[in-house]
Amino acid sequence: MRLWLFRVSRWSPLLLAILVPALSWARSGGGQHYRSGREPSSRSSPSDGGGDLGGIIFYLVALTFQHPALMFPLIVGGCLFFYYYQRSRNPSASTQKAFEQREADLRTQVSARDVEGWVNTLKLKDPEFDPVPFLDRAKKLFMGMQLAWLRRDLSSVRPYLSDATFQRLKVQLKLMQDQGIRDALTDVQVLDAQIIGLDQSEWFDTVHVRIKAQMRDVDVPSTTTEAEALRAAQSAPLESFTEVWSFVRKPGAKTRIGENLYQGKCPNCGAPYAGGATNNCEFCNAVLNSGNYDWTLAQITQGIEHVRYYPTVDGLLEARKSDPALNIEVLEDRASLIFWKWIEAQSHGEAQRLSKLSTSGFLASLDADLSGLKRQRRRKVFLECAVGGVIARMFRPDSGSEYDEAHLEVRWSAKMGIGPESERPPSLPTVPQRWMFVLVRRRGATTNTANGMSTSRCPQCSAPLTDSLSTACDYCGIELSSGARDWVLQSAETIEAWNSREEDRFQAIAVKPGERPAADVITDVRERERLLYMMAAMAAADGVIDEREKKLLKLCSDRWAVPWAKVEMAMSAGPQLFDRLVPKGSPEAEVFLHSLVQMALVDGRIDKHERRMLESAALRLGIPERLQQILSGK
Ligand SMILES: [Zn+2]
Ligand SMILES: [Zn+2]
Repeated sequence: MRLWLFRVSRWSPLLLAILVPALSWARSGGGQHYRSGREPSSRSSPSDGGGDLGGIIFYLVALTFQHPALMFPLIVGGCLFFYYYQRSRNPSASTQKAFEQREADLRTQVSARDVEGWVNTLKLKDPEFDPVPFLDRAKKLFMGMQLAWLRRDLSSVRPYLSDATFQRLKVQLKLMQDQGIRDALTDVQVLDAQIIGLDQSEWFDTVHVRIKAQMRDVDVPSTTTEAEALRAAQSAPLESFTEVWSFVRKPGAKTRIGENLYQGKCPNCGAPYAGGATNNCEFCNAVLNSGNYDWTLAQITQGIEHVRYYPTVDGLLEARKSDPALNIEVLEDRASLIFWKWIEAQSHGEAQRLSKLSTSGFLASLDADLSGLKRQRRRKVFLECAVGGVIARMFRPDSGSEYDEAHLEVRWSAKMGIGPESERPPSLPTVPQRWMFVLVRRRGATTNTANGMSTSRCPQCSAPLTDSLSTACDYCGIELSSGARDWVLQSAETIEAWNSREEDRFQAIAVKPGERPAADVITDVRERERLLYMMAAMAAADGVIDEREKKLLKLCSDRWAVPWAKVEMAMSAGPQLFDRLVPKGSPEAEVFLHSLVQMALVDGRIDKHERRMLESAALRLGIPERLQQILSGK
């Protein structure tokens, strides 16, 4: 009996895994813009234990005990039926949703004791801190943000957002406008808001809030009026999703009851604040979204992409010796701001949009790229662009110059392509991307702490950066692109290109047979998608994809839980899915092959199918001889 019980309890997660996707069929693929990658409701999460589904399972188990001979074949039959029914309907999409669902839950789950610990830590520094009003404000901002998003006017939420968050939403609205659509949403409701983490540094406290919410949401033509949009949204299905909102505030700032932006008051001096594009208090000149006085929204992440702990950043302590205020929060916001400006510049075909944020060298090469496309009457298209994370990786003094370097990884995704200026792009899959942005700043420069999380400001006079084409501040005239005072973009490249130059790091990531790769590599579905689409795009670029190779790609798509339909889309879209493909026979190709070997080694071994897949990939990458060497650990 014990054994039987054990088997039943082992079966129930499987049963759930089969039942759960069945409940979320109604989810449409539309409207996934700034919350692209949204996962279905976690109401039906297996870890919740309770709920309708739990009741059904319990009932089934009870029945099984009473009538084992009858129930066992029924359950098995039922499972098989569901399994095949699911497969016949939409096999990979539902598996992937279940994957993502589980992952989002895992990544955002915390215990009540953890939460109490974080709240107490904050109360030590700020006795008035109370999680209830704090979460109420988060909910209020969430609702305000949805309304601003629907109206395509962010001015009402501007003072609560870091500059990068604002830039991101602004660019996303613009990309939708270019696509000829707007997001219609209604029946927005916050189901739950919960503190799920506290990061502390010398410069900022960061509180992560998990928001579970639901809404009806659909894309409509951009010419639709607000009233029409609302009507259209009413017939859309009600969908649930989980997001993590990260708020930052300077340690030492205090909760001022009744005196914050939500009450229309400056959180520094208490004077009335009426809004305005500069985000400064007109009485005390405080930068309101700096995080220096009150909580500022620094990031919105999908539940599935929430990463709890980042590794330590190489070289940070060393870099702090000359700039004690140097901090990851501000730097990541700056990099995120630059990323969104970079997307904006490319989708408009105007490199100058980065003139105040990049070196003249970077600007010139981007301009050459974009002008080349323009001459051919072609353009780059980015749809549904989203950022999964901006992660500082290392600081390094550049030995050959007067500059320090900061290397930041940007995980993002978009449907991207290059096409004729006049045409709508064909249907493209959302492709995950991993890029490394290298920012530079002259050695000896220091962080302007008054600007804080308001990272789109002049480092000298603190005026907001304008959209003018000049490389200098429009107020005080200081040259910005030189990196003399603040971090500017020097290069942006794929993770493979970066890894192939950074020999030391590359050695660190390489995994030998018999070892298992790091957990975050395996669980990251975006990374699996990225590798598979790159393989498909490379195969397509070479011309013919024969049946044998198709079969191997199919094998990867099954094993890695990446929908086959999307891989097929990648094969037909080809090389335009990526900014560029991995060059054959290059060090980058070797880095890429290493990543594939890692993925195959997830279970600690490489079977004969996987070996065939790796051989075929090595051939495509132009390094067939390297596979054996990598596998034997050389
Ligand atoms: Zn003030
Ligand atoms: Zn200035």
